[in-house]
Amino acid sequence: MPETESLTAIFQRLIAAFGPITLQHYMGESNARYYAGKDPLGSGGDFITAPEISQMFGELVGLWMVDIWTRAGTPGPVHYVELGPGRGTLARDALRAMKRQGLEPQVHFVEGSEALRALQREAVPQAQWHDDLATLPDDAPILLVANEFLDALPVRQLVRTPQGWRERMVDWQAAGADGKARFLPVAGDKPMDAALPEHLKDSPEQTLVETCPGAATVTDEIARRLAGQGGAALLIDYGYAEPRTGSTLQALKDHAKVDPFALPGEADLTCLVDFAAMAQVALAGGARHLGTVTQGAFLRALGIDMRAAQLAAVAPQQSSAILGARDRLVDEEQMGELFKVMGLAAPAWPDGAGFR
Ligand code: SAH
Repeated sequence: MPETESLTAIFQRLIAAFGPITLQHYMGESNARYYAGKDPLGSGGDFITAPEISQMFGELVGLWMVDIWTRAGTPGPVHYVELGPGRGTLARDALRAMKRQGLEPQVHFVEGSEALRALQREAVPQAQWHDDLATLPDDAPILLVANEFLDALPVRQLVRTPQGWRERMVDWQAAGADGKARFLPVAGDKPMDAALPEHLKDSPEQTLVETCPGAATVTDEIARRLAGQGGAALLIDYGYAEPRTGSTLQALKDHAKVDPFALPGEADLTCLVDFAAMAQVALAGGARHLGTVTQGAFLRALGIDMRAAQLAAVAPQQSSAILGARDRLVDEEQMGELFKVMGLAAPAWPDGAGFR
C-alpha cells in the first residue's frame, strides 16, 4: 500500500501554489485526518470524555430520554440518534438504561471515521451508520445526543486589522526567526467587513470573532427535524453561554495542550461551542429551547449523587473510584462548569428534566 502523504506536505504544496488557506479548511482537514486513522479515546489516547469516565453519564442521558418521551405521551416508535459516538460507550450505557424502562429505539450513528465505526460496531452491533444527518430517517420522532461533537467541527475566524476585517488564514513560513519552518496564522488580504454581524463591526483593532458554520448547520438540521418529526435533543460540549470574542482554538495530544499549528492531523483540534448562537439557530429552525445549563447542574438534577451511592453500595471496593468519577463529571473545577448541556425539543413536546 502506498504511504499516505502527510497533511503537512499536502498543505505546503497547496499554500505554495495558491497562497494561504483558511483556518476553517486547515481545521476541517486536520480533524478529518486525525479521526480517520485512530481511536483518540482509548488507553494511550489524547483525551478522555464524560462517557469514558463513568457509565453514569450515558445512563442518565438514557433516562432523560425515556422521561421526556414518556411525558410526551409515548408516541410510538422512536429513533435513538447519536452524532460522533466515539467508542460507542455513551450509546451502550444509554440504551441499556432505556431498555430497563421498556424503551428500545432503532439506533442511528452519524460517524465520519472508519476506525471508530469499527469500535462502535462492537459496542452497539444493531446500529445503522450515516455519513451525515441528511440520510437519517424522517418517519418517527428522534431522541438525539451529541457529546463533544460540535467542538470538533471547523471554525472560521475574522480579525480586525488596521485595514479592516480580514479572515484568519494559515500560511507556511519556510524559516522563522529561529530558522525553523512552520505553519502560522496570518490575516487574509480580502476585505471581510460584510461578513461581520452589525453589532461587532466597530470592535477595536485586533478583535477576533469566531464562528462555527458546521455547528450551526448541524443545529439547524436537528431543529428542523424536531419541528417536522418530533423528538428531543441534548447537545453537550465545552463552551460558553454568553457571547464573547477571541480565539478558543486549541490542540490536544497525549492529554496536553500543544500548538494547533504544529503537526496537523496528529492532534485533536477543538473550539469552544457558542451555545447562545446555537440556541438562536435552533429557535429559527423551529425547535423549542429547553435551556442551557452546566453539566454539573444537569447531572445533579438528574440524580447522579443517588446513582453513585447505589453503584458504590453494590461494589464497595470500587466506591472511591465511583465517587471520584462522579466528582470529575460534576465538580466546578473539573468538567462541571466548563461543559454545558443544551436541551432542544419539538414545539409540542414537554419541558426536559434538569433544565429548571
Ligand atoms: N461522543 C464521543 C466521542 C467524541 S470525539 C465521546 O463523548 O466519547 C468526536 C467524535 O465525532 C468522533 O467519533 C469523531 O470521529 C466524530 N466526528 C468528528 N468530526 C466529524 C464529522 N465532521 N462528521 C462525522 N463525525 C465526526
